[in-house]
Amino acid sequence: ELILAIETSCDETAVAVIRGGKEIVTNIISSQIETHERYGGVVPEIASRQHVESITLIMEQAIREAGINFRDLSAIAVTQGPGLVGSLLVGIVAAKSLAMALDLPLIGTHHIAGHIYANQLVHELVYPCIALVASGGHTELVVLESEGVFRIIGRTRDDAVGEAYDKVARTLNFPYPGGPHIDKLAQSSEEEIVMPRAWLDANSYDFSFSGLKSAVLAAINSAKMKGETPRQAALARGFQASVIDVLVTKALRAVRAEGAKQLLLCGGVAANGGLRAALTDRCAAEGVPLLIPPLVLCTDNAAMIGAAAHLKYKRGEFTSLDMKAEPGLSLEEWSVRS
Ligand code: ATP
Ligand code: MG
Ligand code: FE
Repeated sequence: ELILAIETSCDETAVAVIRGGKEIVTNIISSQIETHERYGGVVPEIASRQHVESITLIMEQAIREAGINFRDLSAIAVTQGPGLVGSLLVGIVAAKSLAMALDLPLIGTHHIAGHIYANQLVHELVYPCIALVASGGHTELVVLESEGVFRIIGRTRDDAVGEAYDKVARTLNFPYPGGPHIDKLAQSSEEEIVMPRAWLDANSYDFSFSGLKSAVLAAINSAKMKGETPRQAALARGFQASVIDVLVTKALRAVRAEGAKQLLLCGGVAANGGLRAALTDRCAAEGVPLLIPPLVLCTDNAAMIGAAAHLKYKRGEFTSLDMKAEPGLSLEEWSVRS
């Protein structure tokens, strides 16, 4: 069966066609990075307008590249939330129109379930497993007891890890999104300015990155005030080392405590070279199978939305045509019912 999936929750307009929940037939991503770059971040009004301009063309391009006809589709999936409401709406209106015109089931899909199930497009999942979600808006540890059933055991109490990366990068005058720039700078540095780690309570799986972010920003600003050049690379390295230490330590503690058979890394920050390397080493040392999607499936894309939607498709759990955008949609509530 073929699912056409649409993702417009933030600043990429993406459409994919997925066969059997696993095989990517086509995966088109049109990024607005160049537009938002000059503002140093995503401007919601501009994002939704650009989605409107590109969505139809990208849907047609997806069908053409897949070498199929709209009539060959089995279902339409779309990101229902979380995300920017104006951006989500554009994808939802497009998905509803298609579902109505073609008389197909509609599947409103959770964006973070998508990030997690991006792994299913390249790996075999074994349950129970744990997902470490590290993205622009989320930092969470999620237990999957069985397929499509989500339980959040840890989340950030302030900034998401990607958000902290972007803010540090912005202060160092790197363009949006800054994560990849800090990653490169950190890996190039021989020196490290040691930064604090926010462990929170001994048993907590929660995260906090705003203190770390403030410490880095304070170091940059105090150098600037003294008329010195901030030691950018050493700061980036210290920042990244702190982030990685906390993420890796808490994720592996959760794996042991929950008896998880696999650790899944996902979200845009899963593209981070330092994090991938550190998790790979620690998981190898502790005998924990680690799954990481390829780079294109880490950041926002529609293939991952198709993969998550398939969980509901095969159970016949569809969404009504009067579905609304839900900027605060809960992952746990999106779990499959059977
Ligand atoms: P969410 O998925 O939580 O709604 P989002 O969709 O905006 O948020 P993603 O697309 O998953 O976020 O990820 C984008 C984030 O990933 C940005 O903050 C970006 O800086 C970060 N990122 C991308 N590559 C890297 C990297 N190599 N190192 C660190 N961060 C990175
Ligand atoms: Mg994005
Ligand atoms: Fe995302």
